Formats: sequence, structure tokens, C-alpha cells
Amino acid sequence: FCPGGKLAVRDGDRVVGPLNRLAAQAQQAGARVVASRDWHPPDHVSFAERGGSWPLHCVRETDGAEFHQKLELPEQTLVVSKATSADTDAYSAFDGTGLADKLRSWGIKRVFVGGLALDYCVKATVLDALAEGFDVHLVQAATRPVDVRDGDGRRAVQEMLRAGAVVEEG
Ligand code: ZN
Repeated sequence: FCPGGKLAVRDGDRVVGPLNRLAAQAQQAGARVVASRDWHPPDHVSFAERGGSWPLHCVRETDGAEFHQKLELPEQTLVVSKATSADTDAYSAFDGTGLADKLRSWGIKRVFVGGLALDYCVKATVLDALAEGFDVHLVQAATRPVDVRDGDGRRAVQEMLRAGAVVEEG
């Protein structure tokens, strides 16, 4: 999703600095860090060659599925892989991953969300986190939209606000 990738988001790499700051703050505060990633099989249903909406991207165990090389994740980061089977897609980090139960088992009540892309995976993750009863903060500096249609990112933020998310600059 970063520049140079198959499904690059404009200025996608600009989220790395804010995410690193957020992760460092979390670590200092004794909070947990979770990093989600698309981890698709090569014949994933979301790919255009199978009639899906997106070009080939984030194929598991390839460079394209790696986190950005400048992303600094604490050692104990929980990595959540999503949309790992050929016939189902998942935008949300909570979709099919068991993440909500995991967070509850850690006693977590509040989550801060950033990443790529704002109008798809970040939005879906924020809405699911709210539906699961978490206090959800979207960190705007740490995300960027695909903006397939102009204004998609802006509308996504409105939708998250209406659903009860707190939006902070970051
Ligand atoms: Zn994907």
C-alpha cells in the first residue's frame, strides 16, 4: 500500500513516522501494539484476475506483504494476518482474526488506530472496534485514504465520527 507497491496509496509512506511515534508512546505507557497486515494467497478473491476490485497485492511471504522497512514495531507486537484464505476478503483487523477476544483478554478498553488505507481497512477496523465496545480513537496523521472517488477519505472520517469514534490529529 506504500509508494512502490502494487496498490500504492498516495503519500502512504507518510504514515510511518506517526505510527512509529504512536508505537513508542504505547510502549512507554505499557500499552500493547498490534500490527495487522493483508496476507493473501496468490489466488485471492480480491484480485482483479479473479474478478475482485484490486490489483494483486500483499501476497503472503513476498516483499509486497512486508511491513514498511522503516516501521518500528516493539518486540512484543502482536502481528495479525487477515484475508489469509483464497475465497474470503477481510478489510477489518477484527474480521476472522479473534482480535476482539484477544484485546479483552488483555483488559484493553481503548484502541488507537492508524495505517492504510483510511477509507477501507482503517474504516472497517474502527467500525468493528466500536461495535465490539472499545473506545476508539482514529489518529489522522497516521493514515491516508485511497480516494478511489474524490472525498472517500473525508466521508470515511464522517462515518467513523457518527459511529462514535474520537478523531485526533495525531
Ligand atoms: Zn487485500
